[in-house]
Amino acid sequence: MYRQDFPILGREVYKRPLIYFDNAATTQKPRCVVEAIDEMYYNVNANVHRGVHYLSQKATDLHEGAREKVRAFINARSTAEVLFTRGTTESLNLVAFSFSEAFLKAGDEVILTVMEHHSDIVPWQLVRDRKDIVIKVIPMNDRGDLDLEAFKALLNDRTRLVCCCHVSNVLGTVNPVKEISRLAHEAGAYVLVDGAQSVPHFPVDVQDIDCDFLTFSGHKIYGPTGIGVLYGKEELLNKMPPYQGGGEMISRVTFEKTTYERLPYKFEAGTPDYVGSYALGVALDYVQSIGMNKISALEHDLTQYAMERMREVEGIRFFGESAQKTSVVSFNVADIHPMDLGTLLDRLGIAIRTGHHCAQPLMQRCGVEGMARVSFALYNTREEIDAFIEALQRVVRMF
Ligand code: PMP
Repeated sequence: MYRQDFPILGREVYKRPLIYFDNAATTQKPRCVVEAIDEMYYNVNANVHRGVHYLSQKATDLHEGAREKVRAFINARSTAEVLFTRGTTESLNLVAFSFSEAFLKAGDEVILTVMEHHSDIVPWQLVRDRKDIVIKVIPMNDRGDLDLEAFKALLNDRTRLVCCCHVSNVLGTVNPVKEISRLAHEAGAYVLVDGAQSVPHFPVDVQDIDCDFLTFSGHKIYGPTGIGVLYGKEELLNKMPPYQGGGEMISRVTFEKTTYERLPYKFEAGTPDYVGSYALGVALDYVQSIGMNKISALEHDLTQYAMERMREVEGIRFFGESAQKTSVVSFNVADIHPMDLGTLLDRLGIAIRTGHHCAQPLMQRCGVEGMARVSFALYNTREEIDAFIEALQRVVRMF
């Protein structure tokens, strides 16, 4: 129904119609987003904030207008709490650096989950090297649900921060982040939710979750690459030092001392990606014109249908069978190497992802080196899933 909005879906690969099932890695872009980028460069381009001239003011209005759209989209209290970054990874690194400078000392504890993406593991290891903090890990059961009892047992008076993906990019599990926030706050700790795989798929409300930080990437929600968001509670961001210096983030500079701009600019050094922010705002308008609840229902149906049909394949093993699951299905078939599966499906026009999915600790937990993964977006169809099953059966017969 929405397919005509996405020109790339009309193309062929290897003379076959493209079936794109790699949406957890990045989504395709609707025409309105591509046109927004064109429009910005053709008609508006000028550096933001600094200029008194017409184009600079126009670009600033569009950039700041996008910030307001993001604020409304995640229900932040104020645009001061919405920082533009290059993506989830930069947002996570920003928190790891700045939060740890302000709040962490040797012996303090940060809790992660076993299903975190490397982008929410490695920055904390860098902090551990600098600050001698302790990293603890929430385990999960075989269905891919976090063990909340074990989580409670990890919390203590040294816990400063709990970092949890809202949706696992491997298992598709929707983690109970509201409950996790409540428990963490009761223990006196702050909470970071990695929303890279949730914000594109269902309504996310930061005030309802009551998280202290939330991260997401534009390119996974039909927006451009190179732009992302960090939401942070104002009170916390005010206590944290800047992540990078230069450009927009200053109030006054002398060689003796620099004072910083107010939020959110304190954390936005250098010329921001105002083309990206504007186009991200257009992408958010686009998904809202369809409705996040509708997108969620559509993708839930595709996920259920895909799993049901995939069970027909002999030797299939799923990774992630939580009752709370969305949009992502990881699997292996018998002892076929996932890379072989992916390569052969590609020749049939079907784009899937294979490998460790930037979650090697989770691969270890599941006892595998890698997995194949299909992940859905609002433009995928049951017919595409049928074609995928047929192709998968064909590939499996070859082994
Ligand atoms: N966290 C999760 C859960 C992800 O799925 C991803 C992207 N695969 C990231 C973080 C990193 O996002 P990005 O590459 O856009 O920075």
